[in-house]
Amino acid sequence: MSPVTPTQFQSDTGPFDLIGDFHGCADEAEMLLERLGYTLGMTGPVGARNYALSHPHGRKPVFLGDLVDRGPRSPDILRLVMPATKSGRAYTVMGNHDDKFRRWLDGHNVKVTHGLEETLHQFERESVAFRHEVREFLYDLPTHLLLDRGSLLVAHAGLAEKFHGVNSGAERSFALFGDVAKHRDEHGLPIRLNWACDYSGTPTVVHGHVAEPEVRVENRVWCIDTGCCFGGHLTALRWPEMELVQIPALKAYFQSPRWD
Ligand code: MN
Repeated sequence: MSPVTPTQFQSDTGPFDLIGDFHGCADEAEMLLERLGYTLGMTGPVGARNYALSHPHGRKPVFLGDLVDRGPRSPDILRLVMPATKSGRAYTVMGNHDDKFRRWLDGHNVKVTHGLEETLHQFERESVAFRHEVREFLYDLPTHLLLDRGSLLVAHAGLAEKFHGVNSGAERSFALFGDVAKHRDEHGLPIRLNWACDYSGTPTVVHGHVAEPEVRVENRVWCIDTGCCFGGHLTALRWPEMELVQIPALKAYFQSPRWD
């Protein structure tokens, strides 16, 4: 598969269902997608489940990254997302957790923190072939996409206008982590800068990454990560309807000083 460019699917007008940070929360993912009218085509038990995702009216999900870590079923989330994305029935952009897991799969020495330990434990049961497939899939994920003739931009942590359609190291860092200060807070967590308050670009930007109890909207920048893995909600934003559909988390799977 050749690398996806940010503008490659610009002519796709949807309609889309934009969904943020799954973080391995496959129970809630199944419930949300069914609520949105998808046929899941599920086979196999929890933990070894396969899916053939489709929508009777041709809607497409757009997954905003952070597929893995913290939650109980990261391999199932990958078995849901990968075939749908590869077949063109869904789009996926890379999250910082997906990128870190890819580097671990690649043999890099990454810190096993922030919920990566759960993913590694769950992957002990998975085959070498599946790990290889996941690695290849994560390698090919774009960091942002323009959709619906450039009226919609999706990136895991959002993207300032100067990086729209750009492929660079600075663009990648922004799309994965957002606009962050050089120093960290007292918990060692990155300090976020509010780029949305200055946003005046043409596309509506929809992102995840910054988990908060409520969806946040500022200047046509939507953050729809409502912290499912922390016991919040899993949220979908329907495009172009701009309707929110939410499923409450079945439990809090992960504790953190900040929903992050
Ligand atoms: Mn996240």
